Amino acid sequence: MNNHQIKRASECSILVVDDEEIICDVLKDALEPFYKVTACNSGKEALNLIGQNDYDIVITDLKLRDISGIDVLNFIKNRDEYAEVIIITGYASLDTATTAINQGVNSYLLKPLDISDFLIQVEKAVASRLFHLKSLSIMHQSEGISTEVKEHLFDLSSLYFFTRKLMLSLEVSEIMRITLEEANQKMGSVLSVISVNLFGFTEVFAMPSSGEIDPKEVSRLLLGMHQKTMPLVDKERFSEGEVPLFVYKGKKGKAPGINTLYPLSVPMMVGGRAVGSLTVFYDSQSKISTDQSQFLYVFSSMVSSVVEHGYTALQARRQAKTDSLTGIANHRLFQETLDREIARANRKNGLFSLLLIDIDDFKKINDTYGHQVGDAVLIDLTRRLSAMIRACDLFARYGGEEFALVLPDTDLAGAEILASRIIQTVSSKPYSSPQNLIYYTISIGLAVFDWNDNIKKDRLIEVADRALYTSKRNGKNRFTIGSISV
Ligand code: GH3
Ligand code: MG
Ligand code: MG
Repeated sequence: MNNHQIKRASECSILVVDDEEIICDVLKDALEPFYKVTACNSGKEALNLIGQNDYDIVITDLKLRDISGIDVLNFIKNRDEYAEVIIITGYASLDTATTAINQGVNSYLLKPLDISDFLIQVEKAVASRLFHLKSLSIMHQSEGISTEVKEHLFDLSSLYFFTRKLMLSLEVSEIMRITLEEANQKMGSVLSVISVNLFGFTEVFAMPSSGEIDPKEVSRLLLGMHQKTMPLVDKERFSEGEVPLFVYKGKKGKAPGINTLYPLSVPMMVGGRAVGSLTVFYDSQSKISTDQSQFLYVFSSMVSSVVEHGYTALQARRQAKTDSLTGIANHRLFQETLDREIARANRKNGLFSLLLIDIDDFKKINDTYGHQVGDAVLIDLTRRLSAMIRACDLFARYGGEEFALVLPDTDLAGAEILASRIIQTVSSKPYSSPQNLIYYTISIGLAVFDWNDNIKKDRLIEVADRALYTSKRNGKNRFTIGSISV
């Protein structure tokens, strides 16, 4: 077991584990001028070495030939929970890398490795390790330091490790899960709640300290609380279920009763502006102290910017996949969805339908009423069709005045019914602009993807497109069924 003495960087011992000998050599050469380095080529050998030596840092490939890098991680963390572990992974295994982070990996490096990035990551790991050894050594000093100072130091250093872990999370749901878990643990609360209103996302997240709690119960509790617990959430919308509420599972064990709880709330601020709040709940008022309230403020301000970061990324991802005029899926998401549906149909010996939709004589609408009214017609069509489809259907703007509908698990009969209903609905009612009633119609080309036909995506689109063209040629305001065989 490591005895946590204060060290210098050059005294840090590092173990490099990779089954490719050449990678081991390159990494070892890069590190050797600065640290004490050992390298090995198999997981088993790594476990052996870790069993016999105290390493400050372990750098391991995620996929070793004999065991997983995660096994190496668990082994060292069992011996020394403050050892730093860096995993090396391919981009394709990034999901697993995120899982690894939850299991205690301190950072990860993507292949192909860039040696200067690698050295920076190691330098950071060394700095963290030394910082921690120093804190531990001070905390374990028996003389001259008061319990209060030690506790304070412990709080600081655990906050540091918490934010480091948080920084590695990319997804909002993951950031929230880690934060709520840490809040309950650090604050000794039975339930923690975060409410946010940022970039048009209004959401509430909650986690009990242990067990599972019915979201309805959480919702009831929050509605009975002071506005401070959800400062930027409209309570009426929340009570109607229009504000998403995510309730995570707590640690293993029995869920706490949440009938009578006492809240401690602090705001979450980004750039001087409140974007939400963090609340921890106690089962007794006497458990709330001024110290805790101060700590929660510090905790919340550390979390806030990471939360903002998560939502910025989410918004960017969303914008990349929606059409800015109509708000529905864009061409890119349409293509991705088709890929996914084709893969799914082939896997499950299933089928789905594709409708390509084009507004008839749209040029005339633009020419007669102007481009802006044309835009309004596009939005009108989007609104009307969105109300007619299932949640699992994908409605996308294919481009210009052309749209696409992907209908999972829908055969020809089902697709025909929807196509004729859509045509009927659009032609029977005009778009009413402030000045005019504008009647318009659409044409549709329909194609069914059946795994038996064994066709590719481009061919499917071509079949639907030809059918659409036939609808136009035959007088518009109609649908045509495309045939795969011609
Ligand atoms: P058809 O019945 O054969 O489909 O004739 P059409 O006039 O609808 O088709 P055409 O492809 O000749 O013209 C499409 C028009 O749609 C031309 C283009 O200027 C217009 N358009 C494309 N995108 C937009 C848009 O975002 N807003 C508006 N207002 N017009 C658009
Ligand atoms: Mg058209
Ligand atoms: Mg067109």
